Amino acid sequence: LFHSKVELHVLPPDDVTLAQFILDHSEVAHPHRAERPRDAPWLIDEETRRGLFEAEVSIRQYNTLARALHAHWGIGNNDVVALYAPNHVIYPIAIWAAHRLGAIVAMTNPSMTAPELAYQLKIARPRLLMAHIDNLPNALEGARMIGLSRSRIIVFDAHKSSGRLSDEVRSIEEVVESGLTRKKYPECRLKKGEAKTKIAVLCYSSGTTGKPKAVAVSHYNLICNIVQIATTLRVNENYAPVEEIRFRPGDRCAAVLPLYHIYGLVANLHFTLFAGMTVVIIQKYNHENLLRSIERLRITHLFLVPPQVVILCKHPSTRKYDLSRIRFCMIAAAPLTAELTLQVLELMPHIHLGQAYGLTETTAGVSIWPLSQKVGTPGSGGQLIAGTTVKIVKPDGSLAGVDEPGELWVKGGQVALGYYRNPKVTRETFTEDGWHRTGDEVIIRRNGDLFVTDRIKELIKVRGHQVAPAELEGHLLAHPAVVDAGVIGVPDEFEGEVPLAFVVLHHSARANIAADPEKMRAMRESVYHHVAQARSREKWLTGGVEFVEAIPKNASGKILRRVLRERAKTISRRV
Ligand code: AMP
Repeated sequence: LFHSKVELHVLPPDDVTLAQFILDHSEVAHPHRAERPRDAPWLIDEETRRGLFEAEVSIRQYNTLARALHAHWGIGNNDVVALYAPNHVIYPIAIWAAHRLGAIVAMTNPSMTAPELAYQLKIARPRLLMAHIDNLPNALEGARMIGLSRSRIIVFDAHKSSGRLSDEVRSIEEVVESGLTRKKYPECRLKKGEAKTKIAVLCYSSGTTGKPKAVAVSHYNLICNIVQIATTLRVNENYAPVEEIRFRPGDRCAAVLPLYHIYGLVANLHFTLFAGMTVVIIQKYNHENLLRSIERLRITHLFLVPPQVVILCKHPSTRKYDLSRIRFCMIAAAPLTAELTLQVLELMPHIHLGQAYGLTETTAGVSIWPLSQKVGTPGSGGQLIAGTTVKIVKPDGSLAGVDEPGELWVKGGQVALGYYRNPKVTRETFTEDGWHRTGDEVIIRRNGDLFVTDRIKELIKVRGHQVAPAELEGHLLAHPAVVDAGVIGVPDEFEGEVPLAFVVLHHSARANIAADPEKMRAMRESVYHHVAQARSREKWLTGGVEFVEAIPKNASGKILRRVLRERAKTISRRV
């Protein structure tokens, strides 16, 4: 077994909700809260540059929203409220309002199409859907597909639409406004230990195999992971001399990571608020927009995924902007090569860099570059965060030692409860005694550095987003000419990985395209569009479509992805 070198000094509370932990005064919360400068808002909307200060966040916003959700829709304990929106200042407020009522928040990717949304909503069974106005057509269709009434849809940014909302759909402003006249809602109070089993959010992940599932993350999981990160990075001045503290009240971080993803939710939003920082919410990420915000809004901290870092390092316009205020940059959710690490440091030699490794099933953080190193070991995912134990299991079932590769199993307060309403799959990767089997192959060096060496599970990561091969394979079978398919990820300089499909065509289709390059090209396009018109962008087959005689499988019918990956190395990319 490997244990983290840092001890968990502060015991994470297990009798409060995430909202109570972040927003209310408690002994361990907010190491710097009292020191937050008066002119430092909690949230800033990058688009309007309007800041939301504590009083407005609490009195005008989430409290009134909670009243309205309770009064109009009867939202209460364990009801699910789904979010289908890009980053927005209302996003955290919606989460906190739901948590005040004891409700569960299902967080869905706003780039999903209506059928993709419906699939995820079917798992979560929400009583209410909050969507951005740009997503309204998909939200309406997704809601219709699961039988959720239009009157249970609330819209963000309704004023941005030129048309009128249908009578049943409400705008969030209208709902918040209506909450002002409502009576106080019954706040969810937890007994000692209850936060450990009370679900706070559902985040989607395909786990080690199959289609996306909803990971049930408890309030304690979220609180614990925030305290674990804070302890490891010594946010509290009790643990570090002042000059070492990387996160100070009044610092500003940019939230360009999607808040629906566990990394954005935990590290970029809640950990930073916990540390007394201001979160600048950026709705539409593009490179220039981020750089402009860094300069204009005096950003000091960045949380990014490797593909965003590639653009930052390679785009010529980066050097036109002043990045000198940046003091810290965290990069996680996918592998960061040693080469890219060095490029970031060349661009911003003055910063502390924090590479981290984690997964939705472990509520984000498992390992992080330690505070003792200004820059960790390039290529490594860091060292175990406080309060984390892992084991590395070799293919023969024995435990690996230092420098030996094997599958990583994680234990700690951050290990999620399992897959929502799916006990069978939960049992496959979450053990009764608290281990989670990650599906990642790693090695740990003698000094504690963890390296992800391979992915045993089926997952593909495109710009940090999960793409489940099983989902694409199932969809490809619905193409009239396709009889079998195997999808893998291939490396891509800008996206990290992109999906490549090996496809077996029906014999008549095969005969038709044989020896006719034009027909073959048309068939390839037809397969590509079959995915592109039905699925969100990261799932498009930009790695290519390859026609093969058969998909290699083992005796029990499991696709031999390693064989496909080897074959992919021999083909040049074409779409
Ligand atoms: P997600 O649940 O979307 O966060 O995806 C988790 C998966 O992303 C992990 O199981 C890894 O396969 C991969 N991942 C996350 N962080 C890293 C990292 N620092 N290095 C390599 N792979 C990573």
